[in-house]
Amino acid sequence: MSLIVQKYGGKSLADADKIRQVSRRIATAREQGNQVVVVVSAMGGSTDGLIQLAGQITDSPDSREMDVLLSTGELVSCALVVMALQTLGEKAISLSGFQAGIRTDTGHRKAKIASIASDRVKQELDKGNIVVIAGFQGITDSMDITTLGRGGSDTTAVALAAQLEAVRCEIYTDVDGIYTANPKFAPKARRLNEIEYDEMLELASYGAKMEPRSIEIAMHYGVPVLIASSLTEGPGTLIHRGADMTTPSKRTVGELRQHVRSIAVDKNVAEIAVLGINDRPGIAAAIFEPLAEANVSVDIIVSSSGSEGTTDFSFTVKEDDLKSALKIVEPVAKEIGCRSVSGSTGLAKISIVGTGMQDAPGYAAKMFRALSKANINIDVITTSEIRITCLVDENKVEEAVRVLHDTFELDKVK
Ligand code: ASP
Ligand code: MG
Repeated sequence: MSLIVQKYGGKSLADADKIRQVSRRIATAREQGNQVVVVVSAMGGSTDGLIQLAGQITDSPDSREMDVLLSTGELVSCALVVMALQTLGEKAISLSGFQAGIRTDTGHRKAKIASIASDRVKQELDKGNIVVIAGFQGITDSMDITTLGRGGSDTTAVALAAQLEAVRCEIYTDVDGIYTANPKFAPKARRLNEIEYDEMLELASYGAKMEPRSIEIAMHYGVPVLIASSLTEGPGTLIHRGADMTTPSKRTVGELRQHVRSIAVDKNVAEIAVLGINDRPGIAAAIFEPLAEANVSVDIIVSSSGSEGTTDFSFTVKEDDLKSALKIVEPVAKEIGCRSVSGSTGLAKISIVGTGMQDAPGYAAKMFRALSKANINIDVITTSEIRITCLVDENKVEEAVRVLHDTFELDKVK
């Protein structure tokens, strides 16, 4: 008997009908002779609803209490899914993150899973139950409830799959796989049958709607992850090691290798500029340490020398984090002495991703040329071995996707 972990996102659980539909899919997996662990998100929109509700009480809710509040969303959906399974005649039981043994650190609202004591889950599986677990939540050593950050149920699912040594983690969502680009922006976009972990990690970090931490865990423990639609039948996209597209040994001599697999877009971007700092050792640490302590992740950092021994820093944060980041940076900047601090929005990141780009020259030049021909200005450029990212005007980013999809002929990617 194989053990499978399935995860259903909020949109797949948005109302009673959808919950019934999801339950039929779960029952099918069980009836095919598998042991099934299910991880659920909160019903679509309900986490946002809870955040808004807290906002009506206070501008700065206590993060421990926020976690108590937000954890309820996933509890609602796991109980309802179990009820639906029971009406189908299935044996099933719901477990909170705590009951499922998910221990985390104390970083409220962005906690990290420290360990999983899976005895209870295994006991329930042995009794023949489908085990439905509330995603996105865990418990600290001192028994305080934590949540894992927005989209954290993916992480719960993959971590459980790794711990339970499941054959596969299936993530069901409102799209039927990973595409060469968002089909809303690039009508010629195609679904990929498979993709490498490191490519998916770059895509997830740079805009694809998946929690990057879940891919990191999958990659580390070698858990194959299937992304597929909860509404339609289809093969989906398998994230695993050994996706064969760019393996040189598999290509015939003389064939042109296509290294770009996909284009990612992230519109949740804001830029903070700290200008005219008196240059001396320690200023970068002074700015970025408090941000790290407050769990604000900083992405593209550019440092350049200004005039007369001064230096400028600009960096990007998530647009959602802009307010809190500015609150931290402003006093620090004042202390170290600078001319100005400002935050701006209206930017987006566009990235081309593909294994093997690093040892094939010309991808960056081709990308920049294509954007310039379309009259799209590039604000900042960053790269990794398998990704090139440009920061552009948010209003131009959809056009940029179309242009790059054509330039790199991604409609021909298989
Ligand atoms: N319900 C949480 C959120 O909306 C976690 C999740 O959906 O994965 O972010
Ligand atoms: Mg989600």
